[in-house]
Amino acid sequence: MKQFILFISFLFLLGNQPAAAQRDFSDSEITKLVLLGTGNPNPSPDQSGCALALVVRDTPYLIDFGPGLIRRAARLTPKYGGDLAVLEARKLKKAFLTHLHSDHTAGYADLILTPWVMGREEALEVYGPTGTGHMTEHILEAYQEDIRYRVYGDEPANDQGWRVNWQEFEEEGEIYRDSNVVVVAFPVIHGSWPNAWGFRFTTPDKVIVISGDCKPSPKVVEYAKGADILVHEVYSQAGFEAKSEDWKAYHTVHHTSTLELAKIARATEPGKVVLYHILFWGSSESELLKEIHSVYQGGVFVGQDLDIF
Ligand SMILES: [Zn+2]
Ligand SMILES: [Zn+2]
Repeated sequence: MKQFILFISFLFLLGNQPAAAQRDFSDSEITKLVLLGTGNPNPSPDQSGCALALVVRDTPYLIDFGPGLIRRAARLTPKYGGDLAVLEARKLKKAFLTHLHSDHTAGYADLILTPWVMGREEALEVYGPTGTGHMTEHILEAYQEDIRYRVYGDEPANDQGWRVNWQEFEEEGEIYRDSNVVVVAFPVIHGSWPNAWGFRFTTPDKVIVISGDCKPSPKVVEYAKGADILVHEVYSQAGFEAKSEDWKAYHTVHHTSTLELAKIARATEPGKVVLYHILFWGSSESELLKEIHSVYQGGVFVGQDLDIF
């Protein structure tokens, strides 16, 4: 009988595999970096669109608006079983864009509208490269029927939360400052894309550098020296070698391989290297790490959606 119960328990466990445990690597009560989406243009169900949230004390700062970001953020809030109330949709008010590629902006309408529908009463603040204003105004125009109906229809809605105060930056340097963070933008090389940027966030206790999309870029090396966390995009070297010549040519000038990233890590020695915008191309996490560790032996984390650093 006892064995039978054990057997049934075993079957029960098999049928109720919990989703991969959400991982928390953070070591600060003040600053937490959340990977909302570690993806790229491929619609992988395991990698939501490229988006990060930096939480400093009670304020969230979003970086890039890949599709799915609002729902990924919700996953970590108390309503859905998490403990980061700071990521509730209505609290998402400040956001930064590295560049306007669609895999980084396809969630922009969601970021403007869903937090408003969920009760955000202030305009969203967005800091992005040239073209951000044009994109913003056109999204608002595209949704004017929705906005009009919610503001003037029977539904209780405020007339502020759908608005966007956008600000464009064009030069390297400080683009934002408040009592929690100083944000510096620096140019990165992303093929011939004219306006691709990385960011350095300095909080009261951490320096976090985010590559955005780029091939190996001197400014990343300059800004990441001694950072606590370098969040860098990456593709698999083994996967690259199996690509056709035209795709190889594209990726070489737009993105960064594991081996190239390992050299950047060696030159900068950040506390942690966190991989995001990951192109696995059939490689496993351990194969990516093996490629990197062949050159660099420091701490490297293959980012998964909802990881906290
Ligand atoms: Zn991208
Ligand atoms: Zn891009």
